[in-house]
Amino acid sequence: MFTIFGVCMLENIEKYAKEYNIPIMQKEGIEFLTDFIRKNNIKKILEIGTAIGYSAIKMALVDQNIEIVSIERDNERYKEAVKNVKLFNLENRIKLINQDAFDVELNDKFDLIFIDAAKAQSIKFFTKFEKNLNDNKYIITDNINFHGLVGSNEKMSRNLKQLVRKISDYVDFLKNNNNYITKFYDIGDGISVSIKR
Ligand code: SAM
Repeated sequence: MFTIFGVCMLENIEKYAKEYNIPIMQKEGIEFLTDFIRKNNIKKILEIGTAIGYSAIKMALVDQNIEIVSIERDNERYKEAVKNVKLFNLENRIKLINQDAFDVELNDKFDLIFIDAAKAQSIKFFTKFEKNLNDNKYIITDNINFHGLVGSNEKMSRNLKQLVRKISDYVDFLKNNNNYITKFYDIGDGISVSIKR
C-alpha cells in the first residue's frame, strides 16, 4: 500500500528520470510487471539493470515479503538508486550491486529474473542467469518492441539497425527455446514472459 509520501517520492523519481534522460519502465509496463508479481506470488527477484531504482522499488512495494537483488553497472545511477532505496526504507529488501552483470556470480535462486539492461545483450543475460531461476518460474524482458522498430521497415541508422536486429534475434531465441514457454505482450514497449518448463 502506498502512502501519500510514497506516491510523491515515486513521482519525484519519475521526474528525475525524465530530466536526466534515464530510461525507466513505462507506466503500462510497470503496472503489468507489478500485477504479474502480485498474481503469481513472486517473492525473490533478480533485476538486471537498476538505473535509479524505480522498478526495483515498485516491485518491492507489491508485498513486504519480496526480496530483490538488482544489478547496475553505471556508478552515478547506482548511487542515485542507493539514495532512493533508502528513502523508502527498503535497504533490507533491495540489495543493489554496482557491477557489470557479466562479472556477477550469484548462487541464489529466484522466482523472477527481470532483464532490463543493454538491449543488444538480452540473449547473453538470459543464458548467464537462467541457472539462477527456480523451476516453473519466470524470466521477463522489457523493450521487446523497441519503440515499435522491431519488425518494422522504417529507415534507421546502422547502429540502430544492428540493435533492432539483436532484439529481433532475442525474440527468435525465445520462440525457439524449448526449455521455456514464452508469451509476448504489446504492453508498454513490449514485454516477454518466459516460463521455465
Ligand atoms: N529497470 C529500470 C527501471 O525501470 O527503473 C531501468 C533500467 S534501464 C532501461 C537499463 C540500465 O541497465 C541502465 O541504467 C544501464 O546502465 C544498465 N545496464 C546496461 N547493461 C548493463 C550490464 N551489462 N550490467 C549492469 N547494468 C547494465
